[in-house]
Amino acid sequence: MNTIDKYNQYVITSMLARVEPVVFETAEGVKVFGEDGRKYIDCFSGISVTSVGHSNPEIIAAVKAQIDKYVHCCSYVYYNKPMADLAEKLAQITPGRLQKSFFANSGAEAVEGAMRLVKTYTGKREFIALQASFHGRTYATASITGNWARKKRAGPYMPGVNFAPAPYCYRCAFGLTPETCGMKCAEYLEDIIRYDTYGDVAAFVAEPVLGEGGIIPPPESYFKKIKEILDHHKILLFIDEVQSGFGRTGKMFGIEHYGVEPDVMTMAKGIANGFPVSAFIAPEEIANAFQPGEHLTTFGGNPVSCAAALATVNFIEREKLADKVTEKGILLKERLESIKKNHPIIGDIRGRGLMIGIELVKDSARTPAADEAKAIRNICLEKGLLIGVGGVYANVLRIQPPLTITQNELDESVNIIEESLGKL
Ligand code: PLP
Repeated sequence: MNTIDKYNQYVITSMLARVEPVVFETAEGVKVFGEDGRKYIDCFSGISVTSVGHSNPEIIAAVKAQIDKYVHCCSYVYYNKPMADLAEKLAQITPGRLQKSFFANSGAEAVEGAMRLVKTYTGKREFIALQASFHGRTYATASITGNWARKKRAGPYMPGVNFAPAPYCYRCAFGLTPETCGMKCAEYLEDIIRYDTYGDVAAFVAEPVLGEGGIIPPPESYFKKIKEILDHHKILLFIDEVQSGFGRTGKMFGIEHYGVEPDVMTMAKGIANGFPVSAFIAPEEIANAFQPGEHLTTFGGNPVSCAAALATVNFIEREKLADKVTEKGILLKERLESIKKNHPIIGDIRGRGLMIGIELVKDSARTPAADEAKAIRNICLEKGLLIGVGGVYANVLRIQPPLTITQNELDESVNIIEESLGKL
């Protein structure tokens, strides 16, 4: 039985629908090689994970060195050095007063833990999140996820969650345009607090770029306005950097584009170049709300994953990847904008750094072109390029390559996207 048959027979189906079947054998840098020897350029990084390139020798060496020492002792029962070193590093690189970290294994687990922390600290029970957001697929994280496509058929969800309109300018909930809207979507938070909650809101949760929702970067003044309203109501700002963190947007963390300090922040994906580790971080007084042993996970802070994370962060810093990502992102957007002129199916191109979305539409009424987006993804795959598809309407092509991608590789990728649009 081959790998695909074994999946069909023995794996619970969470595979994406209608993706061409490919089995990968090896990967190096930005290239992934199939069992059949075919080569692909990876512009999706395993959903925005392999930030410093597949099989990066520095990360592999750090992992091997730790494996030779020991693999697991439970980092919340006995002390381990890689976790302590990583915690110190995160305190240095995260914005503002964020200082103490808790380590878990997946993005959802970090978000869920941070939800518990802010409830414990504030003694309050409600959350406000964004429509079109995504925070994970556990019960609590799906409850604060606004993107209906990611939570259907599993409700009812947790009470005490309200959703604010997403800062999705291309499809503004108020029918306004960014130049003249006066940041209505941020101001509307005041109404949500006043009319939809029962005055017991612990935190407002948001991604600095909504990833699964369709690569939606809020306008520049968005979070400042949000923070003013939150401060007035003594509500914490909870920033989910699971997808946007670690250089992806051209800063170490996406929220740094907005000049506000989060009260709690979650991280995962790009933190360890593919090794499973996630974290949430908070200032000391918030973090100390947990009593010893109150929040714990068996595998959290695994020394091998922490060694990988430390090596990844050091690589991002030393290579100044965030700055390089900014430059690459600008050129990428310029090229895509020039392609847009000949392809009316491209409705919008947006994002920051190497977190870029191309929203496809059927007509001038902006009818989402979801089938076309899937078709483009599959044509790209046939032509040797891996891209993602996402968005609340499943019509956004996602370009999120390893941050180490070269200009030539990016050019080649854009050529394939252009050819695929032509073929469609
Ligand atoms: N938060 C955000 C912003 C995400 O993009 C994701 C995953 O896509 C998650 C949380 C959940 O992470 P995981 O899939 O590792 O549980």
